[in-house]
Amino acid sequence: MLPPLDSKQRLRLGRAKMASVSYAMWVILGVFAYLTGNMDISREVLLVIVGGVALTNLYFYTMIRSGLNKRLTDPSMTVPQLAIAFLWAMVLMLSSTELRGAMLMVYVITLLFGIFGLSRKGFFGMTAFALAGYFAVVYASYSFFPDRFDFFRELIMASILSASLIWCAWFGSYVARLKETLRQNNTELKDAVSSASREATRDHLTQAFNRRYMMDCLSREKTRADRAGTTFSVCIFDLDHFKDLNDRYGHLVGDEVLSAFAYLARQELRATDVIDLDSEGRCFGRFGGEEFMCLLPSTAEDGARKCAERLRVATGEKEFRNGARVTLSAGVAEYIPGEAVADTLQRADEALYFAKQTGRNRVSCADRTRTGVDTDKPDVVVKGNFPRVGK
Ligand code: GH3
Ligand code: MG
Ligand code: MG
Repeated sequence: MLPPLDSKQRLRLGRAKMASVSYAMWVILGVFAYLTGNMDISREVLLVIVGGVALTNLYFYTMIRSGLNKRLTDPSMTVPQLAIAFLWAMVLMLSSTELRGAMLMVYVITLLFGIFGLSRKGFFGMTAFALAGYFAVVYASYSFFPDRFDFFRELIMASILSASLIWCAWFGSYVARLKETLRQNNTELKDAVSSASREATRDHLTQAFNRRYMMDCLSREKTRADRAGTTFSVCIFDLDHFKDLNDRYGHLVGDEVLSAFAYLARQELRATDVIDLDSEGRCFGRFGGEEFMCLLPSTAEDGARKCAERLRVATGEKEFRNGARVTLSAGVAEYIPGEAVADTLQRADEALYFAKQTGRNRVSCADRTRTGVDTDKPDVVVKGNFPRVGK
């Protein structure tokens, strides 16, 4: 029935319970003072006060436990909780006759609760409110019992209270500032950790995943495929005559082409319905230089070839910076159950080599029986082992 409590709500409820324990402590002390004749109230008034205090606690507990507090601007309800506590402190002051001096401690304890949620301004505002309440009590007791009123005793008590509360507000706002600094440091640390982990998995230039991350993905995918009996494919892309592009347009334009290509690839691979890429294009990365790799989970060779072909066409059609144009060659290999990831990559690499050898700007597929490579042109079937692409 009751909503589950998140960590913040649990904290708030914990504080409300702490406040209830403090209220209980003061109620017990007040009742003790009443029973020993040190409270200037009737039994009925005492019962009303005890009932009122219980209702106050029940109200804040219910607000937090029901989640209604979340609708408020400050769900911790620090200011209303403190303000009401100070009003009860005023009642205690009014009722305590000779004991008022000793009961002043209730103000300090109440203000200390402000550490959980008051700002510096809030602390001093709350102190002013508490002191104004106290002076109202002093004035009331002077009006009701002028004969009992001792001006200097009241002055000393008011001074002690003012000094204690101002000290408390100063101390509390120092702790609040410390808490804020800690919170900021914590946020900065979280940001640093997330940017470090991003750096560790991304290629600096293209922001595509780096080789290490792609290798991790591959071995995870292999484990998954072996366990679930599914398949996957890898495509290795290599930009054609990239050295010439660098020579013609300069290295900087070359860099931009690499970045733009990586972006285009992520867009294309995400748009394809052949594979199920998540929003980050998790399966595409830079293998090094002008060589990229794409891992296609749950995709057989034919789907992977279509995917690579689509990227090949899109790349060929794109005009890069300064009118630069580039084509790509791709090697595709589908995972053979049980083989090492390195072998799948080796076959994709051999297919890529074949694509380069047979004219570039084309996609070739590795033969799944590992006896050779066939191309996207069904009439060309090549048998035999190919050396690794490494020119
Ligand atoms: P092929 O069609 O056979 O692949 O020819 P290619 O010129 O693309 O291949 P080659 O391996 O001979 O040269 C790769 C070139 O890629 C050489 C290198 O300067 C360039 N290259 C590698 N990494 C970067 C890079 O980060 N930025 C730029 N601008 N160029 C790079
Ligand atoms: Mg190249
Ligand atoms: Mg290369």
